Amino acid sequence: MTQLQLDGSKIQHHVKELNAWRRGDTVYPLLVEISPTNICNHGCLFCAYDYMDGRSSEAALDRSNSAFIGAERLMKVISELHEVGTKSLFYSGEGEPLLHKRLPEIIAFAGNLGLDQALNTNGSALTGDVIEQILPHMSWVRFSVNGVNEADYAFNHRTSPSQFKLVIDNIKAAAEFKGRHGLPVTLGIQCVHMGQEPEEIFELAQRFKELGGGYFSLKQFNEHPANPYQQKTTPVREDFYQLLELNDSSFQAHVRMPFGDAEPKRPYKSCLALPFFAEIVADGQVFACGPHLGEAAFSYGNIYDDDFRTLWSAGNRAKVENHVQGIDDLDHVCMPNCRLNEVNKFLWNLAHPPEHVNFI
Ligand code: SF4
Repeated sequence: MTQLQLDGSKIQHHVKELNAWRRGDTVYPLLVEISPTNICNHGCLFCAYDYMDGRSSEAALDRSNSAFIGAERLMKVISELHEVGTKSLFYSGEGEPLLHKRLPEIIAFAGNLGLDQALNTNGSALTGDVIEQILPHMSWVRFSVNGVNEADYAFNHRTSPSQFKLVIDNIKAAAEFKGRHGLPVTLGIQCVHMGQEPEEIFELAQRFKELGGGYFSLKQFNEHPANPYQQKTTPVREDFYQLLELNDSSFQAHVRMPFGDAEPKRPYKSCLALPFFAEIVADGQVFACGPHLGEAAFSYGNIYDDDFRTLWSAGNRAKVENHVQGIDDLDHVCMPNCRLNEVNKFLWNLAHPPEHVNFI
């Protein structure tokens, strides 16, 4: 069985930074998410970023304010992040990262500095050249595949049916390259459940396993207050347990929480995780977290105006922290199960220990 952990928090593995945080020292983000561009060649019905600027899935395909982050400026910032102790970069966010033509160069640059890197992609632009340039530098690549056949894929991704075969072929080529060169990169599929039958999902996961993929993760759509898409049915997690039959020493199928369950209210009263994370978007702004991209109160500033250390100054962080700490009920303002939810649970427990902690 592989040792992948797709849910929960991994912050407990960063004891040095946790101790610094508890002492009240400056902590720099361990993980930085980067949106190389805000445009996408697909327009997924459920896309978590459709809410930005009130745009619809169609508008996401045709934006007048499209932006590509400047490669030179980003590489300078990446150098700085490396110096201050950032450990990982995750290319994802607002648009399809591989539409940025210089992303392979950026990834090679960061890889040579020794940063861990991951990519979330629809896989349509993962050509042979790109595979060759980026795969040796990646810890993992996650393909977003949310359809089980050409018609289903085209409907859910708002794209042409031919894209399904293109993406499957690209995933196959990536898996072959990984195998040929013995690369440690993990290749996975994330599939947001869009009403397909459990058998259809099983077939997709099985197909991916046969291609040489490392994991298949089935996820329930997470609602965002400003995203009008709603899942029509609430699937039952047990219906998908057949997926677990695919698990072996090199493949892991995963039915992600909170599938089938209503996410309970947050057990923490305030968001403590922000010092450990930052998100840089295509126009250069640096935000505290993904669900609040575009909101000035969550912005530390712009990489075109300041270097990262200045953006992360005590004053800038206090401005954002004061706003976030002033939120009365996070469940009303923040989407359920946000990226830092599990980190927050851990930090809240650490900062507010229960009784009898010596009884481990
Ligand atoms: S709880 Fe989640 S969504 Fe809300 S501010 Fe914190 S990280 Fe952002």
